[in-house]
Amino acid sequence: MAKNIQAIRGMHDILPDQSGRWLFLEAHIMEVLARYGYQEIRTPIAEMTELFRRSIGDVTDIVEKEMYTFEDRNGDSLTLRPEGTAGCVRAGIQNGLFHNQIQRLWYRGPMFRHERPQKGRYRQFYQMGVEAFGLEGPDIDLEMVAITRRFWQALGLEGLQLQINTLGTAEERVLYRERLVAYLSDHRKMLDEESERRLQTNPLRILDSKNPQMRELIEQAPTLMEYLNRASKSHFELLCAGLESLGIEYIVNPRLVRGLDYYTRTVFEWVTDQLGAQGTVCAGGRYDGLVEQLGGRATPAVGFAIGLERLVLLLEQQPELPAVSAPDAYLVMVGEAPQAAGITLAEGLRDRLPALRLLCHCGGGSFKSQFKKADRSGARYALILGEEELSRGVIGVKSLRDDSAQQEVAIAALAEHLRTRL
Ligand code: ATP
Ligand code: MG
Repeated sequence: MAKNIQAIRGMHDILPDQSGRWLFLEAHIMEVLARYGYQEIRTPIAEMTELFRRSIGDVTDIVEKEMYTFEDRNGDSLTLRPEGTAGCVRAGIQNGLFHNQIQRLWYRGPMFRHERPQKGRYRQFYQMGVEAFGLEGPDIDLEMVAITRRFWQALGLEGLQLQINTLGTAEERVLYRERLVAYLSDHRKMLDEESERRLQTNPLRILDSKNPQMRELIEQAPTLMEYLNRASKSHFELLCAGLESLGIEYIVNPRLVRGLDYYTRTVFEWVTDQLGAQGTVCAGGRYDGLVEQLGGRATPAVGFAIGLERLVLLLEQQPELPAVSAPDAYLVMVGEAPQAAGITLAEGLRDRLPALRLLCHCGGGSFKSQFKKADRSGARYALILGEEELSRGVIGVKSLRDDSAQQEVAIAALAEHLRTRL
């Protein structure tokens, strides 16, 4: 017999017993975003490869080795999106969303990166991301952080730490880069192979290295703070002051450089020590140069993305898990006439009780077998309709979660009865 086909390594099914948690998460996040006046944007999952090369940067992990790139039948080079910002910016430019307008947008969906799969790191993973275009001040940076804090509150997540840093502007980085390269060259023997290579191409990324052997070298490295001009410094200080006035705790981490080239000034991450090595659940920052770099008018922008799998893992570690949504009632129908009458009854209940979650038994069978299914469904009540009940115009209501006695209710009064019990 042929072997069953398996899902692609690093790409996972989200099964029904998990999807409730995903819905819980996404619903809360969307509600918070609506409260801040953000609107959804949906962009294609595949884009021209060139878009990611030009936005993320050629000398980044993503573009160098993680993209799912393929030729389509016309010979165009396409890539499954590894992140969401490039597509948002492309869509905004193409549709004129940035002309004298402010946009507060969010997106969600799968992203693709060919990384080594492990806990919290997959080849297809989901992000929810938020982007604001057309605002240059630290006030919108602060709004981004305030939104994320409200997410964690809404989800009941604790123990997340906010780290922030500033990457300055492109000009400020030129000076700093020289100084950093000089420092790292002086200690060349201590660089690993990848960092040696990055010394020429993208030295700032060396600060992001996860190699423990280089930790000390990195900790001693000069920091960008010393190279900031007045405007960048004040931007950063205003953000810090705003965080303090909102009572948001943070630490300044001068080694925080984001993996993508396009960031400027503010960068931030929310990290946890509850997920092992994959501790960053949310990451973002300002990217004032990207819209212009992709051919649009210069437009300041700031945004962040949340890794949803990591958030789900975190949610599962909370002492009090949100309840999974079980049906309120399961309708048991035995006999031909009760089956026909039951379906009409069920539709009537759904008309009158919009919040009711009602499962109707399908496929017939004995009382006993239907009861078993009712129990297994997790429903709170079984509604029991047999020939005998139907002939008297009543229905049995039995609690499946405690030992209280079964009640008999007139069919005409059932909706009202359920309304008071649920
Ligand atoms: P990391 O340092 O963990 O690789 P990153 O800097 O590459 O993260 P971003 O591109 O900023 O990550 O993506 C934002 C968020 O998306 C991350 O903080 C993380 O929560 C999530 N994420 C990134 N890559 C993956 C992945 N391969 N699998 C699952 N989640 C991911
Ligand atoms: Mg990465």
